[in-house]
Amino acid sequence: MESSCIFCGREENFGTGLVIRGRLICGGCEKRLVSIHSENIFYDLYVNGLKKIWRCLRA
Ligand SMILES: [Zn+2]
Repeated sequence: MESSCIFCGREENFGTGLVIRGRLICGGCEKRLVSIHSENIFYDLYVNGLKKIWRCLRA
């Protein structure tokens, strides 16, 4: 099964690329992502945390 990378559009096999929530990321973009991956997790936590805070303030 083949699909294109969601970042660069390169055709990549589902067996070799990284798949996150059904979206394919090719090997090259995966390497780039790994270097910022931990920052992304903190960003997600930060954004989700802010959303929860906003909900609490509105309630
Ligand atoms: Zn790519």
